[in-house]
Amino acid sequence: MLRTHKLGEADRIVSLLTRNHGLVRAVARGVRRTSSRFGSRLEPFTHVDLQLAEGRNLDTITQAETLDPFSSGLGEDYERYTAGTVMLETASMLVSEEKQPSVQQFLLLVGGLRAMVSGERRPSQVLDSYLLRSLAGAGYAPSFEHCARRGVEGAHRWFNPAMGGVLCATCRIPGSANPAPETLQLLGALLAGDWPAVQNAEPRHLREGSGLVAAYLAWHLERGLRSLAYVER
Ligand SMILES: [Zn+2]
Repeated sequence: MLRTHKLGEADRIVSLLTRNHGLVRAVARGVRRTSSRFGSRLEPFTHVDLQLAEGRNLDTITQAETLDPFSSGLGEDYERYTAGTVMLETASMLVSEEKQPSVQQFLLLVGGLRAMVSGERRPSQVLDSYLLRSLAGAGYAPSFEHCARRGVEGAHRWFNPAMGGVLCATCRIPGSANPAPETLQLLGALLAGDWPAVQNAEPRHLREGSGLVAAYLAWHLERGLRSLAYVER
């Protein structure tokens, strides 16, 4: 469940990321009434098993069973809740097409939320790993080892979101960041899900890495949104 909007007196429109049908928008009738059978199950973050009746414009939810109530685990922890919100927003932007299969994005989001709720890892590490992996899954895999421009093997010292990752001394362009080598190794480990390597990282490299992930995400989502604006709806 990615987000919900009110509709009329008692209904909601819910946006969902589904395992087999990608992004789905559906009407949940009567869910804002206290007597609703499944109103509380249709909240953001919740992993549900749904049955839908196909409609002319929007499908209607006829049944909902909770599989993982991630929201109850996230709601008590502000840092985890906000990180989870970024994950939902990122998923809804990366999977922009409705009803196109996106099993990988679905599994990344559910796995990421599960890790976020479990509390075993720092929220920022779970978030950064999710962002790098979901961007990679959407075709925007960053390069932390080979030069993003000419593929020359590293290690390289320069990082540029617009160029897709690290740059060698020859390809480096003005405005590139110059992160610590340990930070680039950390980002590679976050992308690969190599948690032992992530756990050994120093706080300053984690901080620097989070900044680079945020810059990389902003560049790609902004570009994605700009191209979306030209799509006829
Ligand atoms: Zn190069």
